[in-house]
Amino acid sequence: MINSNIKNINSLIDSNSGSIVITSHKNPDGDAIGSSLALYKYLTLKGHDVTVIIPNEFPGFLAWMKSSDRIVVYKREAKLAKKLIAKASIIFSLDYNAFHRAGDLKDQLQKFIGKRVLIDHHVNPDNSFDLVYSTTKTSSTAELVYNLIERAGDQKLIDNEIAEGLYVGIVTDTGSFSYSCNYSATYEVVAFLIGLGLDGEHIHHMLYDTFSEDRLNLLGYCLSERLIVLRNYNTAYIHLSADDLDRFNFQIGDTEGVVNYALSINGINLAVLFTERDKYIRISFRSKDKFDVNIFAKKYFDGGGHKKASGGNSYVSLEETIANFTKLLKLYKKELSS
Ligand code: 5GP
Ligand code: MN
Repeated sequence: MINSNIKNINSLIDSNSGSIVITSHKNPDGDAIGSSLALYKYLTLKGHDVTVIIPNEFPGFLAWMKSSDRIVVYKREAKLAKKLIAKASIIFSLDYNAFHRAGDLKDQLQKFIGKRVLIDHHVNPDNSFDLVYSTTKTSSTAELVYNLIERAGDQKLIDNEIAEGLYVGIVTDTGSFSYSCNYSATYEVVAFLIGLGLDGEHIHHMLYDTFSEDRLNLLGYCLSERLIVLRNYNTAYIHLSADDLDRFNFQIGDTEGVVNYALSINGINLAVLFTERDKYIRISFRSKDKFDVNIFAKKYFDGGGHKKASGGNSYVSLEETIANFTKLLKLYKKELSS
C-alpha cells in the first residue's frame, strides 16, 4: 500500500511540468523546515520550479540552513504566496495532515485545484489529499522524504543541502535520537547521510549550542519558578504568562524542548507546558509510554499530534486553562498512575 503510494507520488513528480509548492504546518519545527528544504532541493535538482511556503515565521535556530532565506512566509508575504499557490500544479503538505494545521494557509489549500500530496507521520490523515504517503512508524517526515528519493532511485542526487535538511528533521523530531527512533531504518538513513560526508556533530552544534542568554535564563526560570509537580497524578506542568515571556524577550523557538524537562522527572508520566500567547493559550503535551496525549489533546484542547507528543490550544485565561486541566486529571488518575 505504502510502496504503491510512493510510486504514484514519484510518477506524478516525473510527469509534472508546472510549478510546485511545498507547505508545512503553523509554528514550523525542525522537521517541518528540514523535510521541506530537503524536498525543495531535490525537486529543484530534478528541474522543477519549486517554492516552500510556511504559514508563519520559523525559529531562529534553523536560520543557518541553506535556502531557508528563500522560504516564503505567508504571514509576511501573503500576496506572493497566494500568487505562487494559484499558479502551482502540485502542492505538497509536509509534516501535517489536515488543512487547519496550516494556519492562514488553510483557505488557499482548500481553494487549490491542482494535485495535493501528503507526506506525513501523524495519526489519522484527513481525506483532502489526492496522494498520501503517511505512516506513524517512522522518526519523522524527513525520513519519509528520504524514502521517496531512494525509491525513485535518486540517492545520487542527495547533496549536502538535502542531507542537512533530512538530518535536521530526523534529529529534531527524535529529540536527538531519544524517542520515535526505535527503527533500524532511521539509523540506516543516518548512516547513509554520514557516509556521504554530512557533519552530524556540526549540525548538532548549530541546533543546540546557539541559544541566546535570554533563552537560557527563561529555561532556568521555568524550572525554578514555574514548575508544578502533581505527584498524585504523576504529572508535572510549567506555565508561562505573557509577562514572563516579555521579561525574557521571548523569540519563537525559545520554549522548544522546555516541556521535556518536566517529563524527565522520575515517576512523571505526563508533562505539560502552558504558554500565554496573544489571544489564546498554547499547550504542549508530552508523555511516557502509557498515556495517549494525542487523544487527550484532541478531546479537550483543540489539538492533537502523536501518542507521546502533542500540542493544543485553549481559549480561556491561563488560570482557567490550568484549572480545567487539573480537573480533567481526576478522570485519568488510573492511566497516569501506572
Ligand atoms: P509541540 O508541543 O512541539 O508544539 O507539538 C508536538 C506535536 O504535536 C508535533 O508533532 C505537532 O505537529 C503536533 N501538534 C502541535 N500542535 C497541534 C495542534 O494544534 N493540532 C494537531 N493536530 N497537532 C498538533
Ligand atoms: Mn514531524
